[in-house]
Amino acid sequence: MMTKRTGEPTPRRPRCDECWDIKRRRAQALERGDLQRAVSLTGEMGAHLRVAHP
Ligand SMILES: [Zn+2]
Repeated sequence: MMTKRTGEPTPRRPRCDECWDIKRRRAQALERGDLQRAVSLTGEMGAHLRVAHP
């Protein structure tokens, strides 16, 4: 169901190109079973969120 609300529909979902890129690469790493890479990208995501989405 799609409900229209004034304001933000998803408060905790920042969508910029870098967010999606990191998220995508992390998902790919998980699919390949590359946990080290996934953890590294999670850290990268955290750093990006602090800088780009305060
Ligand atoms: Zn972002």
